[in-house]
Amino acid sequence: MQFKNRKMVIATMHGKEAVIAPLFKRHFQVHPILPKDWNSDLLGTFSGEIPRVVSPLEALRIKCAQAMKNTDTDLAVASEGSFGPHPSIPFIPINTEVMMFVDLRNKLEVTATVHSLETNFNSQMIEDLEGLELFIRQTQFPSHGLILKRPHGEKPVFLKGITQEDQLKKYVQILINQEGSAWVETDMRAMMNPSRMKTIGQCAEKLVSHIHMKCPQCKTPGFSPDKPLHGLPCAQCGQPTSSVMGWLHRCARCGYQQLEHHKGGKLLEDPGYCTFCNP
Ligand SMILES: [Zn+2]
Ligand SMILES: [Zn+2]
Repeated sequence: MQFKNRKMVIATMHGKEAVIAPLFKRHFQVHPILPKDWNSDLLGTFSGEIPRVVSPLEALRIKCAQAMKNTDTDLAVASEGSFGPHPSIPFIPINTEVMMFVDLRNKLEVTATVHSLETNFNSQMIEDLEGLELFIRQTQFPSHGLILKRPHGEKPVFLKGITQEDQLKKYVQILINQEGSAWVETDMRAMMNPSRMKTIGQCAEKLVSHIHMKCPQCKTPGFSPDKPLHGLPCAQCGQPTSSVMGWLHRCARCGYQQLEHHKGGKLLEDPGYCTFCNP
């Protein structure tokens, strides 16, 4: 399977090519290009003007397909981010990035996911300029942009991509005068958010490493860890426990599977975690 000298569209209008293009050029000698007059926001935005209705993987497939059609190419990369509370530490925000590589000519689809706690994801209702001062200190403003919204109803966007303090204060004051308060939130679009751009770069590196992994049976690229496999055997009775044994690699083309044990990890579980030995 050959990627060399082929055009590869990066499905973005938020500057993600800065961290994706150099990697793919170096590893696969592709020619990265961008779609023209294409609006990925139609698939949903972080700031909520257009709600997201499809799963991240489905959104990525649609983005890749649209970008390939737009540029008349058969190779694409797209990424999709989401933000929310950490699953086990609710007060800590987490950024999840999923990235997809599609080769239409060879019917290949490879994905990678990265989670990062390095995010400024935050929002707050602001009643006065002192409240604004406190908020912007927690958001890495002005290196990271902010979004200003009207405080009521669906909170319509007032202004996006704010990186000037005087401009921010001016418009917050206008909203407070008009509506009593202002809703301020971090702008999570890649070009407005260096923390997120860094995580997208890490995701691109992981995706590149996944593409390099080839199926031992049919040599198809993308023989990457698919999902964790539970059932690490108990050291005492040998029965499967609920602990993770390793990662399952599965070839989408020929179905060949292989288990990758934890690197340097254990092959047997402590009987203390076994429901038979330690009910
Ligand atoms: Zn046991
Ligand atoms: Zn295979």
